[in-house]
Amino acid sequence: MLRLEAGTTWGNWAGTATADPVAVAHPSSTDEVVDVVRQARERGLTVKPVGSGHSFTGVAVTDGVLVMLDRLRGVVAADVPRGRVRVLAGTPLHQLNPALGALGLALPNLGDIDRQTISGAIATGTHGTGARFRGLADAVVGTRIVLADGSVHDCDVETEPDLFAASRVSLGALGIITELTLQCVPAFLLHAREEPGTLTGTLDALDDLVDGTDHFEFYWFPHTDRVLTKRNTRLPVEAGENPLPRWRARLDDDLLSNRLFEVVNRVSAARPQWVPRINGVSSRVLSSREFTAASYEVFASQRDVVFREMEYAVPREAARDVITGLRRIVDEGGHRLPFPVEVRFTAADDVWLSTAHGRDTCYVAVHQYHRMDHRPYFAAFEDVARAHDGRPHWGKLHGRARDDLRPTYPCFDDFLAVRDRVDPDRLFANDYLVRVLGD
Ligand SMILES: Cc1cc2nc3c(=O)[nH]c(=O)nc-3n(C[C@H](O)[C@H](O)[C@H](O)COP(=O)(O)OP(=O)(O)OC[C@H]3O[C@@H](n4cnc5c(N)ncnc54)[C@H](O)[C@@H]3O)c2cc1C
Repeated sequence: MLRLEAGTTWGNWAGTATADPVAVAHPSSTDEVVDVVRQARERGLTVKPVGSGHSFTGVAVTDGVLVMLDRLRGVVAADVPRGRVRVLAGTPLHQLNPALGALGLALPNLGDIDRQTISGAIATGTHGTGARFRGLADAVVGTRIVLADGSVHDCDVETEPDLFAASRVSLGALGIITELTLQCVPAFLLHAREEPGTLTGTLDALDDLVDGTDHFEFYWFPHTDRVLTKRNTRLPVEAGENPLPRWRARLDDDLLSNRLFEVVNRVSAARPQWVPRINGVSSRVLSSREFTAASYEVFASQRDVVFREMEYAVPREAARDVITGLRRIVDEGGHRLPFPVEVRFTAADDVWLSTAHGRDTCYVAVHQYHRMDHRPYFAAFEDVARAHDGRPHWGKLHGRARDDLRPTYPCFDDFLAVRDRVDPDRLFANDYLVRVLGD
């Protein structure tokens, strides 16, 4: 029997959520996960699997048994000709991506960072950008999940299709996923082209930019009309890499994007009235650059400056109105915002609780430095996003609850029905889940 260790205080990356679990477990197999679930039930404790703690919400918090997945890592099996790979749920993306690369495979799309576990990333609907591409959960074609009664289920589109559909973006509400089967694509390179521009010009040409590039996104510097656009184009591996010189990569990614940016934010927190001028300078420091490297190296970057984030998924056709509404908040609201706004796009998918379910989507993410108050700014943005049928990222800060989330997800009740069936006693519940799914 796996011994449950005494719990110690746990906190997430952003410092927005903490937990004081009664016990902590580090299972190294599906059988040990079953064992943990049974012990928790016997002791009347709730259970919560946790990934890398990179959600800003309390989605991973528990006062019962915290299940760390750090011993469930690695690739279990690969069918390379079909591009199918079975991986352990706790595998962090920064280990998974090179492991897939070694097999000549890659995930079709990725987000901004690679610190998350694969199971944590899919549980909250993590996504990247690209009008023809979908979020990470879309690549999941099979899950092995341990339910509240200790039973183990291997499900996919044919076997237990409802449990499978719900388990792709599950918020950790259904059980503990121990293995995932991923549909990968052949490994590919990305040619990255980053250049400064204006928000006005970008919004005028938005459809051409979004549809004319495999992976388009832009960062808008609040209090200015300036943006940094990123256009990533997919290339076959045979095209050959052309990476940035090492000094340039360190200058941009380590010094400017992290160390100097931390200083900029500290100054902004101390002298908020300087922020508009600081942003004017910051937006000019990041100059144009082009390079080509392995897809996962281009998609992911290092984020050391701690911030708070809210991100809303809105129908793509509402993108301009939402960004214009946000600009009005920035111009008129008296907020001081040293962090850029990030704007991304993905294709519609059919994952039940995916924020892109059933509609081509624009993601608008607002950030605030952790030493500055994010609440008035986020609340004002949330009103704009809600007016455009926005769906909040499950892992990022928001103020929505079950009854006003339900109408925006066509399969919300299907998800709740699966939850009622597989976890009637709410072994996997926590306060966040009670708010967004009900008790
Ligand atoms: C700096 C930073 C950058 C980010 N960039 C992006 C981005 O580009 N795009 C984007 O969409 N999001 C982004 N995020 C959000 C992040 O991807 C999600 O919050 C993700 O869920 C974090 O994964 P994690 O492994 O840390 O999971 P955690 O936050 O630890 O857990 C998240 C949820 O997953 C559940 N879970 C974990 N493992 C399992 C399992 N085995 N079975 C069942 N449930 C499980 C947990 O119970 C919890 O409900 C970013 C976050 C940060 C801090």
